Parts: sequence; structure tokens; C-alpha cells
Amino acid sequence: MPVDADKLQIVNYPAESLRAKTMPVPEITDEVRAVAGRMIELMYEAEGIGLAAPQVGLDWRMFVVDVPPSEDGERSVDSDPASATDGAAVYINPSLSGFSRDLVPYEEGCLSLPQIIGDVRRPSTCTIKATDLDGREFTQVGEGLLARCWQHEFDHLEGILIIDKFDLATRRSVKAALETLASAQRIVR
Ligand code: ZN
Repeated sequence: MPVDADKLQIVNYPAESLRAKTMPVPEITDEVRAVAGRMIELMYEAEGIGLAAPQVGLDWRMFVVDVPPSEDGERSVDSDPASATDGAAVYINPSLSGFSRDLVPYEEGCLSLPQIIGDVRRPSTCTIKATDLDGREFTQVGEGLLARCWQHEFDHLEGILIIDKFDLATRRSVKAALETLASAQRIVR
């Protein structure tokens, strides 16, 4: 059944799609382009820097990212490796490799986990290979917030959330907020 892109909305934890198995996107069609456009729109509305298809209820291996460059030059599109995007970027059937050996803690949030933030440790550099909306395969090396954002969104395609990566103390500290989210979801249903 075709997806009505205009009707897509961000779903919150504990929506089933956030834990479901995802499938490769077989072909770049108008439907895929419309869904990507809607995901970018939703990401901007929510003032996020990334959004993965499971977060709009789809079992597609696709995400969108917009990590803006910073004025102090810490995040840049032109640095090598890049640490920002030149506007919104779409990654279809992505794979990650080339992780650096370091693990850097940084406070993350998630558009599907409102009010929940905590440190997540991730490698500072990695390489992404994906297909763009024109059906072209591309490879890019990223570092800093861009590499982090790729890893966060890629985790969504594997059904992994930031709460799974928090340390024990952080998990305890967000327990009540998670329960509130879960009960809100039950009311919605
Ligand atoms: Zn997220």
C-alpha cells in the first residue's frame, strides 16, 4: 500500500515501529522522494538534526540529517572529514564503517523521546555509504556531531534507542519520564 507522505507524523516511544525490523528501500520512486521530503519537514518542525524512517512509523532503511555548520568553525561542511551538512541530506540504505577507536560521551536527545536526554558514548569518526534521492551511491567520512548523528539515526534502523546506550545512573534518572511517555501513549491509543 502506498504511503501518504503528507499524513506522516513523528511517533514517540514506545511505538512499535521504533523496535521493528527495517527493510532496504528497493527503488528510489516518487513515493520515496515524497516521504524523504515530509521527513525533512517534520525534522525542521521539531527542530531536530536527524530523523529516521522508523520514527515516522515506516520500516524503511532511510534517514534524513541536517547538521548545520557552526559560526566558530567547530562544525564545518568543508573540513576533512566534514562535521556538518550543506542543508538537509538523505541517506537511503546506509551502512557505516571505519569507526575511530575512541568513545566520546556527548549529551543526546531524540525526537521520539521528548524530555529525555543523556550522555551517549560513540566513536568520533566514521564513514557512511548510502544512496541519495537520485539513486546515486555515495561515500562520505564524517566526524564530530555529523558522525554522531549518522550513528544515532543508523541505530534507529536497527531498533536501537539512546536509552539502550545510557549508563545505569542515567537510565535510573530517566525512568519516571519514560513511564510518563508510555502512559501517554496508552491514552492516545
Ligand atoms: Zn532518535
